[in-house]
Amino acid sequence: MNPNSLNFSGGPGALPEIVLQQLQEAIICVPGVGLSVLGISHRSDWFAQVVAETEANIRALLGLDEAYHVLLLQGGATQQFSMVPMTLLRGKTQAADYLHTGYWSGKALPEARREGAIQLLWSGAENGFHRLPGDDELHFNPEAPYLHYVSNETVEGLQFHRILGLDDVPRICDMSSDFLSRPCDAGRFSLIYAHAQKNIGPAGVTVVLVRDELLKNNPCDLPAFLDYRVQAQAHSNFNTPPVLAIYVVMLVTRWLLHDIGGLEKMAEINRAKAKTLYGALDGSNGFYRGRATVQDRSLMNVSFNLETPERERQFLESASRAGFSGLGGHRAIGGIRASIYNALTLPAVEALADFMGDFQRHQ
Ligand SMILES: *Cc1c(COP(=O)(O)O)cnc(C)c1O
Repeated sequence: MNPNSLNFSGGPGALPEIVLQQLQEAIICVPGVGLSVLGISHRSDWFAQVVAETEANIRALLGLDEAYHVLLLQGGATQQFSMVPMTLLRGKTQAADYLHTGYWSGKALPEARREGAIQLLWSGAENGFHRLPGDDELHFNPEAPYLHYVSNETVEGLQFHRILGLDDVPRICDMSSDFLSRPCDAGRFSLIYAHAQKNIGPAGVTVVLVRDELLKNNPCDLPAFLDYRVQAQAHSNFNTPPVLAIYVVMLVTRWLLHDIGGLEKMAEINRAKAKTLYGALDGSNGFYRGRATVQDRSLMNVSFNLETPERERQFLESASRAGFSGLGGHRAIGGIRASIYNALTLPAVEALADFMGDFQRHQ
């Protein structure tokens, strides 16, 4: 198999082979334009069309109506950790509701605290982030300016399989590592953000879906670059945007719509992949040990351990020799992590499961 197809990296993640081929062509010459994608003006009609199609594809995939802006911003998910509270928490008397379910939701907390009070509804820190909270453990504040959570904890491999919160409180969700991996009732969220580099493109662009209504009473003294309204008015072209990254997101969303056939189909494939890999863990008699509690297992990031760090090292070396890459766990927790984003195919995941079986038999 082509090395790209065995790339289990947590991020930047693998991209569909057909998109890489189209990108290779576009680096030299974009069909119909005659210029490299790296040298086309962001003020060209061509680029306006790229932004328009990217936005239209995302709207079509999620069934998103005109009540939402689709923004293509810079600064990654990390900048959204700040932009959200700058916009919605600054000067507020009530605390915003936050969850601490793993590494990435933890990174959002200090940024929010710079802007105002937050209430930590639940933290998995004491249990080592092996599980997510149940509904009976969450007491949402109906007066909170908003609720913030992360749908898929990329490092620990924990994923919510339901929507959290109260319908009257704006729901804000970091979907960086599971955006467009499954159908999502986006209309129940006030703001969704997802950088591209896990599931839908290269680093450099972050998709923000935000309800127009949420932006009505924003502070007026924000830097223009960090003001969602300014970005919306500029159609994601306030200053020079990452043309290449946005072009790739357009190609990936086109692939999702036309090659895969939409998010239901994508989710079906993703479920089959996850079932294969978790099946390999569960059938190993404890040789491979899944990190996450079964009901909170992520369909995107399968994090697991072997008996000792030494054996994990041997596993990674042997996997690398067999052509697999990106399997080392996040530097925060170590272990093994197989990220099986949209672009990873079922045959690639089956190849990994077979390899795991072989490795175990040879111990
Ligand atoms: C990787 C990741 C981030 C960090 O994103 P940057 O674009 O590097 O700022 C934030 N949230 C989640 C859920 C992630 O997986």
